[in-house]
Amino acid sequence: MISRIDLRGSAVSADGGFDRDLLPRAELDVEAALEKVRPICDDVRHRGTAALIDYAQRFDGVTLERVRVPREALDEALAELDPDVRAALEESVRRARIVHRDQRRSDSAVTVVPGGTVTERWVPVERVGLYVPGGRAVYPSSVVMNVVPAQEAGVGSLAVTSPPQPEFGGLPHPTVLAACALLGVYEVYAAGGAQAIAMFAYGTDECPSAQLVTGPGNIYVAAAKRLLKGRIGIDSEAGPTEIAILADDTADAAHVAADLVSQAEHDTVAAAVLVTPSVELAGAVEGELKEQVAVARHRERITEALSGRQSGIVLIDSLEDGLAVVNAYAAEHLEIQTEDSAGWAARVRNAGAVFVGPYSPVSLGDYCAGSNHVLPTGGCACHSSGLSVQSFLRGIHVVDYSRDALAEVTHHVVTLAEAEDLPAHGTALKARFAGGEQEGTSAGGEQEGTSAGGEQEDTGAGGEQEDTGAGGEQEDTSEGKVPQSK
Ligand SMILES: [Zn+2]
Repeated sequence: MISRIDLRGSAVSADGGFDRDLLPRAELDVEAALEKVRPICDDVRHRGTAALIDYAQRFDGVTLERVRVPREALDEALAELDPDVRAALEESVRRARIVHRDQRRSDSAVTVVPGGTVTERWVPVERVGLYVPGGRAVYPSSVVMNVVPAQEAGVGSLAVTSPPQPEFGGLPHPTVLAACALLGVYEVYAAGGAQAIAMFAYGTDECPSAQLVTGPGNIYVAAAKRLLKGRIGIDSEAGPTEIAILADDTADAAHVAADLVSQAEHDTVAAAVLVTPSVELAGAVEGELKEQVAVARHRERITEALSGRQSGIVLIDSLEDGLAVVNAYAAEHLEIQTEDSAGWAARVRNAGAVFVGPYSPVSLGDYCAGSNHVLPTGGCACHSSGLSVQSFLRGIHVVDYSRDALAEVTHHVVTLAEAEDLPAHGTALKARFAGGEQEGTSAGGEQEGTSAGGEQEDTGAGGEQEDTGAGGEQEDTSEGKVPQSK
């Protein structure tokens, strides 16, 4: 069912480092998929909607008239949504809003020197395309996890795409449509796979192009994101889902097994990894897995996921070594089920999200914790974050210096520009203080310049430069306060 990987002994190096290659993880060959998606993306670029309709026929087995989902279909899906599902989605949205609203940031202005400020303005991306996977499971929760942060970030134009389903007349799954309508998103497309990413990247007659595409998908979606990154922004190339659990003998084997099963349920290539120093727990979890999987609805899928090379029970000597292992693994989801779980969790450096203690299972985070479930996979958690309001914002530096403030630093800029052999950079500043005279710029000399630089420090405080500015031309201020000579 699940393999054991015994790393007791020498696996962890003295500095706490750990060789990632020793850990169970499937290779996701996005490069190979690139060659498959390239012609698809090119075709969408050139033929637009016609290409999307062809691919819907070929890959999804549906005949579409148009790709955009009519508004009535969205209203109808919401009207027909099971009231319990609606209540659960509303609670999911409510909690996600609490967390993501708190992630909003205000512009911050820093006074670097008197008269010189740099403000960081946070500006939402104008138009975003959100990908909601179809495939083996239906993910209205992914609608919530993509849309809520984008809305809280203030994104003006939001469109959702999800694969067309033959059993629903070529529309995306009705629960996905209902979730969109619940969130007020009425621009929805029935497109999946690489072609959907290309639709957002290039635009079609139905769908204007977007600046950013977010959301998880299969390997073709990941490949299209890699291919089109540059033309569009992407969140990350999400791969198959992963759960890692760091547990000791205080953990309940039944709960640990249930959590491993829960994520294995997503996909045959999903990864479930238990890291423990307790041989006893390992044995008990193996026993639990057998029992639980036997009665699971998706037992075939789960069995394939658990027995794949991407899953395993990793035995280590101590929790300390276990921490090194989970940090090296950088799981999308990491549970800590140990004594002092909060203490261990605080020392985690690499994970998409950390779930602390016996009552914070990953399933909670998938739906209703308030946290986001679009998280970095495949070890990308060592350099990337999950989806958040920040994903939809750009920080713009707004630089605003007064004449005095610029004068004060000009000699440093000129020096650095000369050091990089980019003298025109220095000239651009000196020109502002030349006051119409040429000598200042050309000669002025390295020698005088140095002294000038010294004096500037003084003048920075006082108002002398002001005078220079006013009377500049005649008063021969060129040697002094204003650093045109350097
Ligand atoms: Zn899950």
